[in-house]
Amino acid sequence: MRARPEKSRYDVVVAGARVAGASTAMLLARRGMRVLVVDPTPLGSDTLSTHALMRGGVLQLARWGVLDAVRAAGTPAVRRTTFHYGADAVRVDIKPRDGVDALYAPRRTVLDRALVEAARASGAEVIHGISLIDVARDASGRVRGAILAGPDRSPRTVAADLVVGADGLRSNTARRIGAEVEHQASHAAATIYGYWAGLSLDGYQWRYVPGLSAGLIPTNEDRACVFISMSEERFRRQLPMGLHELYYAVLGEVAPEASDIVATQDPVQIRGFAGHRGFLRRPWGPGWALVGDAGYFRDPITAHGITDALRDAELLANAVEGGREEDFEAYRSARDAAARPLLEVTDRVASFDWTLEVLQSLHLELSRTMNDAAKILTRLDDRASPAHLAAPAEAIDARMAFTV
Ligand SMILES: Cc1cc2nc3c(=O)[nH]c(=O)nc-3n(C[C@H](O)[C@H](O)[C@H](O)COP(=O)(O)OP(=O)(O)OC[C@H]3O[C@@H](n4cnc5c(N)ncnc54)[C@H](O)[C@@H]3O)c2cc1C
Repeated sequence: MRARPEKSRYDVVVAGARVAGASTAMLLARRGMRVLVVDPTPLGSDTLSTHALMRGGVLQLARWGVLDAVRAAGTPAVRRTTFHYGADAVRVDIKPRDGVDALYAPRRTVLDRALVEAARASGAEVIHGISLIDVARDASGRVRGAILAGPDRSPRTVAADLVVGADGLRSNTARRIGAEVEHQASHAAATIYGYWAGLSLDGYQWRYVPGLSAGLIPTNEDRACVFISMSEERFRRQLPMGLHELYYAVLGEVAPEASDIVATQDPVQIRGFAGHRGFLRRPWGPGWALVGDAGYFRDPITAHGITDALRDAELLANAVEGGREEDFEAYRSARDAAARPLLEVTDRVASFDWTLEVLQSLHLELSRTMNDAAKILTRLDDRASPAHLAAPAEAIDARMAFTV
């Protein structure tokens, strides 16, 4: 290993140092626990993701005292969302409420770094360049620690009361533990995205035509993240034309004005995601827990993964602090109560089997689903906030009604 854990025993070892893992570690460290976080990727590196945060995600960052770092990195405030259904536009202003007066879409290079720095400042030990390669168990099968390794693959076992898998969609922790998949979605959408200058966006823009969608998201460095989505079947059928060509062709169909601006610029790096069906895994067992995409993945088409991960990090931290089986069961039921309806409506959107009229009704359903999920946040108290960064009372009083 290039860097070694300082101790041979921790209260909690977390695999994965991005939105789910760094947040969980930060919250646990703030409650006085000895926490180690490992991740094979470098601090501040990018990952496959666009970055639109919803109100719940911004609220969590504000409550935790992390939003200032996101703002200080020049992340533009988003005060309006516009849904374009063909030629019809529906504008939704972001109402100042619950301490949130704007949404943000920080690059992951900004957000993940800010969360890691907050975790470190709270007392967690975060080591990049190390992976969890397996869990260590006792004779009864209970997880008692993590087996870690750096690039040289020489393993080292670190004892822990709890091992948290926050290692994303293809979680090695979930695989090693054998965490059961309890729900599987039916559809997966493919996404291709890049970053462009000169789009001067008035907030988030979501665009839909039958069979296709696009999102235009203002982000750092005066760039817009522009993504297009389609069914995985169409993606596979048309990919032979080339990723760039497919991106430009679809953008021309679904967001022609943006396509005209993009066409005047030098080509940028384009990233593609072929799609993955949503799932819910059992999120805890003896000595282990899963958080973020490792335990719950929903198609990115409804842009909720980060917001959900930030919520679930706090639900899990509460369970770990409680420490009893019923606390972990409460984590599971709160996560599932929020996740299941969102997974269902997201799956219907990801099917691309809709008319624009049906899609509008799905978006209304999504809004109601977000309202229900938000009620979970109303039960969170301010233990997450460091005293010196405590959010104003109205930020903690999260009786919110999400519209976006
Ligand atoms: C194309 C695309 C677009 C998206 N757009 C949005 C959006 O606009 N808004 C939104 O909210 N969400 C979006 N999402 C979803 C969002 O990216 C995820 O929900 C979010 O990244 C989940 O965070 P996480 O911390 O659980 O996992 P990740 O961000 O995937 O981080 C997992 C970390 O675990 C590390 N890791 C992997 N294996 C190990 C191991 N063995 N040991 C230790 N560490 C390990 C990885 O290196 C990684 O750093 C999008 C996703 C995709 C694919």
